[in-house]
Amino acid sequence: MENKIPYKIYLEESELPKSWYNVRADMKTKPAPLLNPATGKPMTLDELSVVFCKELAKQELDNDTAYIAIPEEILDFYKMYRPAPLVRAYFLEKALGTPAKIYYKFEGNNTSGSHKLNSAIAQAYYAKKQGLKGVTTETGAGQWGTALSMACAYFDLDCKVYMVKVSYEQKPFRREVMRTYGAAVTPSPSDTTKVGREILEKFPGTTGSLGCAISEAVEAAVSHEGYRYVLGSVLSQVLLHQSIIGLETMAACDKYDIKPDVIIGCAGGGSNLGGLISPFMGRKLRGEADYKFIAVEPASCPSLTRGKYAYDFCDTGMVCPLAKMYTLGSGFIPSPNHAGGLRYHGMSSVLSELYDEGLIEARSVEQTSVFEAAQYFARVEGTLPAPESSHAIRAAIDEAIKCKETGEEKTILFGLTGTGYFDMVAYQKFNDGVMNDYIPTDDEIAKSLANLPKL
Ligand SMILES: *Cc1c(COP(=O)(O)O)cnc(C)c1O
Repeated sequence: MENKIPYKIYLEESELPKSWYNVRADMKTKPAPLLNPATGKPMTLDELSVVFCKELAKQELDNDTAYIAIPEEILDFYKMYRPAPLVRAYFLEKALGTPAKIYYKFEGNNTSGSHKLNSAIAQAYYAKKQGLKGVTTETGAGQWGTALSMACAYFDLDCKVYMVKVSYEQKPFRREVMRTYGAAVTPSPSDTTKVGREILEKFPGTTGSLGCAISEAVEAAVSHEGYRYVLGSVLSQVLLHQSIIGLETMAACDKYDIKPDVIIGCAGGGSNLGGLISPFMGRKLRGEADYKFIAVEPASCPSLTRGKYAYDFCDTGMVCPLAKMYTLGSGFIPSPNHAGGLRYHGMSSVLSELYDEGLIEARSVEQTSVFEAAQYFARVEGTLPAPESSHAIRAAIDEAIKCKETGEEKTILFGLTGTGYFDMVAYQKFNDGVMNDYIPTDDEIAKSLANLPKL
């Protein structure tokens, strides 16, 4: 390691960002507004405030303020697990024999195991400040629910989590982490909500979906006094909070004169990717620098690469506002053999707009090749990555191999969003050689898209 760049770059406390960055402020074409499904008109602050905390509703609607100060209490909490290190992947570079320089921002250094805590603590803070009793949410594999439980415990808020039933049953460990932090966890669909009962009647024996759990969580929030709904991805407010990832990364890059050529992130609802690229995208939008951005999604849930840019429901029960996004249709559920996460049917409106303008590229990868990359990374770099994060690893390795072929010394940066300790059932499938790839047919996607709302 003769290079001057340390293996791990940690910023000093005095160098940490004090504000979040809102990329919408620098976008010429703003992301399309959320619409009220009943009127077809943009959601107002008052309407949004029925579902979300007031301050978060304001952030959701704010397309103009570039920097929003991070409240002191949140900065204090961030100190428990931030800064996250920017790691120079020397071992990976050497193993690949690539002339490329590879960096990753590691967000797995907290008990929830992912970047989701960055937004969970912000959302819990604003709920507490508003004097609420608690919040409701959905969780799929459980990372978001875990992060939110930790944040709610810190601020002494009640936390009701609707967990997709198949995960509730198959991932007892995350469920128990949530309960340890004090959350009430209900398998979804459940008979505790009207929408849950309807879905159970229509699809008896269903193992649930994220879209369905969202509907239940929203209903639980609006039907309980003193509760609001919070969401861990997709929303513009979540990208705003997650900009802490990109701001720290950019500060570390600037300090060591690192100039990334390619910035890569996995994309489920778009929060980590949006957070990582936001400040860099800001520079690109202002004409100060150029970068290639790559969103990586599963071939079994390809919203950017095969979806349609249209208004759609954010949830199965169609109780949420409509969002314009790249979507596979709100009824789309990835094949049951899909084990790698990133299963949401739509994509952040901010990222959808940037992608539509050609400012971001997207590619989809098959899960066996994702787990191959995960295993390789674990063996050479030491860290056991989350399957979601491994989509980005796959693309970073592919880019680095291209550099080996062409002799280009590119600088590749990717987001390593979390650890895979709770994903060992998926790893087990891969290790046993029983994991396979499923790519939805054009017909299946067209069928799902036929149910887009007519405006
Ligand atoms: C939730 C999650 C993702 C995907 O969500 P985004 O909103 O697209 O970032 C990626 N990685 C990990 C570890 C996650 O928990």
